Amino acid sequence: MQKVLQQLIELQELDTRRDVLIARLGDLPETVKTLEKQIGNEKEQNIIRQTGIEENESLIQSNKAKIEDLKEKIVRYKEQLYLVTTNREYDALTAEIEFNEEAVRTAEGQILQAGEENDRLREALERSEKNVQDMDAHLVEVRNSLEETQKQTEEEKAVIEAKRSELSAAIPRNFISMYTRVRNARNGLAVVALVRDACSGCHNRVIPQKRVNIYKRNQVITCDYCGRFLYASLEKEEE
Ligand SMILES: [Zn+2]
Repeated sequence: MQKVLQQLIELQELDTRRDVLIARLGDLPETVKTLEKQIGNEKEQNIIRQTGIEENESLIQSNKAKIEDLKEKIVRYKEQLYLVTTNREYDALTAEIEFNEEAVRTAEGQILQAGEENDRLREALERSEKNVQDMDAHLVEVRNSLEETQKQTEEEKAVIEAKRSELSAAIPRNFISMYTRVRNARNGLAVVALVRDACSGCHNRVIPQKRVNIYKRNQVITCDYCGRFLYASLEKEEE
């Protein structure tokens, strides 16, 4: 039993050191992910904006061509007005002219609207492209410092992980699964010292009978409140 306890203490030390290494990376990995996502979204939006601009542009062109045709027609009808001989023909031509003039106004309205929309889209596109440039630059910086930090910690982490896997293979499975469960539930800390008669994980007092057993160091004892493994640390008691 004493051996298992010693192994669990060592395992906790290794895991704590590894946690510190990972914490050194900070929120860099998360920042990289967030930036990549934001840049992707922004680029997607810009493709939609660009398509909108092109569609409006072709709408403007087709309406311009339409207006030219309509105006030619109107000129022809106006020339024909001089040649008509009956009121009925005159009224028919006048109606035709009015109809075509109305169509010209409609087309001009569409050109105006599409032009205004393109102004808005181009402005948004420009803003967004600048934004994407800034985010790209930031992403490069964050990636570089992440890589650098990873490089620095990689070697140390590999050593810890090798020791950890050797050690955990030597610990009975039921203890490993208890350890893992408690560590996950208790903020990474599954093995703690008894300090001033209390569990140093949750600071609750440990009953005398348990304390006696902890000092005997011949069995594995866990805290009644937080489930962490408890051990007697002479060092900590002396503090
Ligand atoms: Zn506790």
